[in-house]
Amino acid sequence: MEKRQSRRSYPREVVMQVLSSCYDHPTAYAVYERARKIKPDISKGTVYRNLKLLEERGEILALSTGGVFTHYDGHTEKHSHFVCKKCGKIEDVFVKTPVPAELCEKFVVTESKCVYYGYCEKCAPENGAVLKN
Ligand SMILES: [Zn+2]
Ligand SMILES: [Zn+2]
Repeated sequence: MEKRQSRRSYPREVVMQVLSSCYDHPTAYAVYERARKIKPDISKGTVYRNLKLLEERGEILALSTGGVFTHYDGHTEKHSHFVCKKCGKIEDVFVKTPVPAELCEKFVVTESKCVYYGYCEKCAPENGAVLKN
């Protein structure tokens, strides 16, 4: 019984393993490609289904950054994201952004999701942007 149970949940564990071991916020297809390295017979449909399930359970985050694809994040602790407009790199950002006072007068804000856009360290010079250090 115990063994059947763990075998049945195996694809989900693979998906979870892929996501918890990376920080680059892969697309569903990239998750599938990495999952295949761990479990070669895993199907794309299985990976996509499990991504949806894990997202619904709050075990992973699905991230829309304005692009065509949804990106996935295996790290659900509170954080924001920075998206490079040039290379598309998505990085975790741990900053505390206070809720604006004007908002608090009208609403009870319980959470916020922030995505910052701009140029990463590598792309900034190529675009004539300067990092303020
Ligand atoms: Zn970049
Ligand atoms: Zn993240």
